[in-house]
Amino acid sequence: CGIVAYVGHREACPLVIKGLKRLEYRGYDSAGVALNNGEELVVYKKKGKVSALEQELANKPLQATIGMGHTRWATHGEPNDVNAHPHYSFHRKLAIIHNGIIENYAAIKETLLRKGHTFASQTDTEVLGQFIEDIWENAGGTLEEAVRAALQEVAGAYAIVVMNAADPTQLVAARKGSPLVIGVGEGEYFFASDASPIIEYTKDVIYLNDYEVANVQNGKLSIVTLDNTKTIPYIQKVEMELAA
Ligand code: GLU
Repeated sequence: CGIVAYVGHREACPLVIKGLKRLEYRGYDSAGVALNNGEELVVYKKKGKVSALEQELANKPLQATIGMGHTRWATHGEPNDVNAHPHYSFHRKLAIIHNGIIENYAAIKETLLRKGHTFASQTDTEVLGQFIEDIWENAGGTLEEAVRAALQEVAGAYAIVVMNAADPTQLVAARKGSPLVIGVGEGEYFFASDASPIIEYTKDVIYLNDYEVANVQNGKLSIVTLDNTKTIPYIQKVEMELAA
């Protein structure tokens, strides 16, 4: 239901948690974060409030300058720790957060099950994450290409952010039907469901359009459509009051 992601020079975990709290008004049943400290991609998630997730994180060493967080409003699978996002892919080469519904997830899941995949959760989201990884492994291209190829097969509505376990500079995001805003700072990028988690850091935002995929890597942002046409990002000043 709510998405926050960050890559740059700040400590990601507190920034992502604070952003999730700004999105709490949207309603949710569980929350989670993924962080990559350059050695591993770690996921923490918890049923309940963002504050419960915060307690879970309290005594853990989480030094990372890239991370993403999610508040979930369950549509596929009951609200519990396992169904909460982020979800690892099958070989843990990526993690994914997702708002919305993948309508044809059952057919994709069936194909992956026949290939020997197993699933930790009941969610449509985990299926999409495994699907992206499977394409990535078999096609041998970039993560961004795999995300586009997977989304071309997907019916439904989504905003997603994907983190690459092997590249702590990379975030890939896409949307169709669910909102996603990109904040452009000095050597840092933010993604969120609305601008409220972003505006204390930068007023420069890009509203991602349907069927667009944003790739941040090594400090650079590019946006292409699902069929790989380059778009010129339109950066605008956000007009929004910061709630106390
Ligand atoms: N369909 C996904 C799930 O049930 C995402 C729900 C959401 O938008 O939070 O996990």
